[in-house]
Amino acid sequence: MDWKDYYKIDERLYDLSELVLKDCDEQFKKADKIRLVNQTKVMSAFTSVGVSAAHLIGTTGYGYDDSGRNALDAVFAKIVGSEDALVRFNFMSGTHTISVALSALLRPGDAMVSLTGTPYDTLHAVIGLGGKKGDGSLIDFGIKYSEVALKEDGMYDLDAIKEACRSDIKIAYIQRSRGYSLRPSFTSEQTKEIINAVREVNSTAYIVVDNCYCEFVDTEEPTDYGADLIIGSLIKNAGGGIARTGGYVAGKKDLVQMCADRLCYVGVGKEIGCTLDMNRELFLGLFFAPQTVCNAVKTAIFASQFFSKLGFEATPAPDEKRADIVQCLLLENKEKLCAFCRGIQAGAPIDSFVTPEPWAMPGYDSEVIMAAGTFTMGASVELSADAPLREPFAVWMQGALSFDAGMLGVLLAAQKMLENGELKI
Ligand SMILES: *Cc1c(COP(=O)(O)O)cnc(C)c1O
Repeated sequence: MDWKDYYKIDERLYDLSELVLKDCDEQFKKADKIRLVNQTKVMSAFTSVGVSAAHLIGTTGYGYDDSGRNALDAVFAKIVGSEDALVRFNFMSGTHTISVALSALLRPGDAMVSLTGTPYDTLHAVIGLGGKKGDGSLIDFGIKYSEVALKEDGMYDLDAIKEACRSDIKIAYIQRSRGYSLRPSFTSEQTKEIINAVREVNSTAYIVVDNCYCEFVDTEEPTDYGADLIIGSLIKNAGGGIARTGGYVAGKKDLVQMCADRLCYVGVGKEIGCTLDMNRELFLGLFFAPQTVCNAVKTAIFASQFFSKLGFEATPAPDEKRADIVQCLLLENKEKLCAFCRGIQAGAPIDSFVTPEPWAMPGYDSEVIMAAGTFTMGASVELSADAPLREPFAVWMQGALSFDAGMLGVLLAAQKMLENGELKI
């Protein structure tokens, strides 16, 4: 049997996929090189910390002296070039992890400035944007929040950043990934440029980076080049598709300590927290992360190239340097958008028989359609796509644990569009 014998996909799409694979060759080689560096880095961290079979076994109750938990923190810190890390399944999501970190570092009267425009949607309430007295947000606790707007083209504004950082601020906050916007995600070089600009004018502010979706996409993490704290989710890149929940913070020892005290309680910090049976999967996920992220990046490159060839606008463009695993495709209208998402769903290993429908999701001003058939609920390191039904009819797709499966998902998305008469080939 040939791989083309299993799914009903138009011959012309299969032919196009072979051309596209050739076009992707150079970008794939770059992604493979990054994977090799990252896998070697992960391996050497495991061996230098001396991860043992005993570390994979968890504890119950208070979890005092959980050597696996401590080893996992040490391995993670080594990988991202930081003094310390806090890697915990007890972090419920990326937003929870960021919320804990901000609450840990800020005191009433302190100022936080976001250097990359308005942060990710779920953080608006955490910060207290549009909030009200008594809501428990940062602003409610007396934090002074401000932001430096992005420029019209979506790029950060270095002059305005320096101006904002000349004042007395506690946190200079950077979000690398684009979120649900069309602005570019910021590569290592760009993130480094922002960090250097802050340090030029301010030597004391904590530089905190939302690193969601960016881990292992390049060979360095922001802690390697000057960030004081990075934060991310384990059901995205750093969990390798294996971790079923969790988050991490990594950075300067005293800051990680403050985060541990806030997640747990003051006086105990990192010393407590049983790991149940989670140690093994967090180690295994971290071990797999470079490969999983490479598969997701390749799926994004393939989708970008494939849909560019079909005449759609793709951002990032196929040969653009990537900062994260997110791929945006501008699909022109509601019908194409829905067909695309239904094809992605059909290409999922789980719930492939489900038909995604647009719905009025709370917090959105238009209907949203989502496709996800994942082993871990909501895990967006697995192939998934979501799109608000409004101009410019962009879909944000990301993930794929396996490139072959990711490519199949993209082909099925095109197939669904073709069957609906939404594709010209
Ligand atoms: C995913 C994400 C988060 C956190 O989201 P959760 O769904 O709470 O894990 C924060 N910032 C960015 C840029 C993200 O992509």
